[in-house]
Amino acid sequence: MAGRCRGGGTGRRAGFKIRFWQQSESSSLSPGTNIQQAISVRTMNFCSHCGQAVSLKIPPGDNLPRFVCDDCGTIHYQNPNMVVGCVPVWRDRVLLCKRAIEPRSGYWTIPAGFLENRETLEQAATRETYEEAIAKIDLGSLLAVVNVPHASQVHIMYRAELVDGKFGAGLETLETGLFLEQDIPWSLIAFPSVRFALECFFADRHDGRQEVHVTAVERIKY
Ligand SMILES: [Zn+2]
Repeated sequence: MAGRCRGGGTGRRAGFKIRFWQQSESSSLSPGTNIQQAISVRTMNFCSHCGQAVSLKIPPGDNLPRFVCDDCGTIHYQNPNMVVGCVPVWRDRVLLCKRAIEPRSGYWTIPAGFLENRETLEQAATRETYEEAIAKIDLGSLLAVVNVPHASQVHIMYRAELVDGKFGAGLETLETGLFLEQDIPWSLIAFPSVRFALECFFADRHDGRQEVHVTAVERIKY
């Protein structure tokens, strides 16, 4: 099950663009702070509660650096984001979207995007498919969970079927298309998690089963 599909786990084509915190003279890392842990923290300069400056330090009782307000003391925890998507099919073809935005503009992906607050995974996958591909879906089973620790993300992909075969291009999409397996543009797939999901989808379809596949990808540069 885990990591069974080709392309998963090795991170051959990882690379999600996020901003990384970099140590500066004004930072207040405690002696002994693990810099490798700190670089996964996204930059913050001011407290969203009171507007005063924040410092990066390890709060009492904690073991990781956090942005802590110098004035009101609020600790600003930052945790991974979830990206949710699906592999939509119409008969024997898969719907792909060519990205109109960075990162990886011009490359093909499946409909996917960040989970919103107060939203379920299933709602997010359905919403993203409509936003990016103007397509209505019946969401199916869970297909893949991809850990992307260097980007502090987890990608969760479902199976899905188009309701009526209709689709278009949303604001973040240059064009959409239905692809037979042999026509998938593998060299132009935007992200390793998308490649993993597609490979698992086709492998399962060949075997007549629907499993959940779990893997992790590492950062590489394009
Ligand atoms: Zn504050």
